[in-house]
Amino acid sequence: MAEILPFSDSAPQSFIHYRLPVGILQCNCSIIGDPITREAIVVDPGDEVGRILDLVGRHKLIVKAIVSTHAHIDHVGGLAKLHQYTGAPVLMHRDDLALYQAMEMQAAFLGVPAPEIAAVDMLLKEGDSLRWGNFEAQVIHTPGHTPGSVCLYIPADAGHVTVPKPQLWAGDTLFAGSIGRTDLWGGSMDDILQSLKTKLMELPDDTVVHPGHGSNTTIGEERYSNPFLIAP
Ligand SMILES: [Zn+2]
Ligand SMILES: [Zn+2]
Repeated sequence: MAEILPFSDSAPQSFIHYRLPVGILQCNCSIIGDPITREAIVVDPGDEVGRILDLVGRHKLIVKAIVSTHAHIDHVGGLAKLHQYTGAPVLMHRDDLALYQAMEMQAAFLGVPAPEIAAVDMLLKEGDSLRWGNFEAQVIHTPGHTPGSVCLYIPADAGHVTVPKPQLWAGDTLFAGSIGRTDLWGGSMDDILQSLKTKLMELPDDTVVHPGHGSNTTIGEERYSNPFLIAP
């Protein structure tokens, strides 16, 4: 089900955000749009591209970029198809390219057919800014779940569009009450804890976190209750 965050309706210029859990692993795909220019980005189109395109079309959005938080199959399965339909560039971090190229192996591991591989049009790195419509999101490189995991951060009141609270798309780095697994290829518990402590925990407590699976949380909630993050 597409889900509209409550603040989407609260102000005339508030931002558009749809979250669709897609595919067998229910990866949260996000569509983040500017209500004025209609420009949008799609984060983690893991599967069910038809549903994503349906929402994009219904709300007359123009997809400017397709962003992958990391190259696990459940987050990247729809990249090629969405690129074919929208022409929008595909973006991911260089350190996950090897994992992306190993799609046959990832598919075999899950016992599913391998999705088509897209050409990666632009490589993301720490400190990059993504601009679309009146938005600007910062790229935060958070290795640990995979070497090339990234998060996207939009500060409050970014640009001319009302963003009442800071927003973080966290991929599989941070979940409500948990963190991403590190036992798969390229994973590292030391790295993910370092990413969380030195980068994500530096964000304001009221930052709304959109994880790659499951429900939303906030940085403050996780800082004080996540068993991986509270001090012993
Ligand atoms: Zn993952
Ligand atoms: Zn995932």
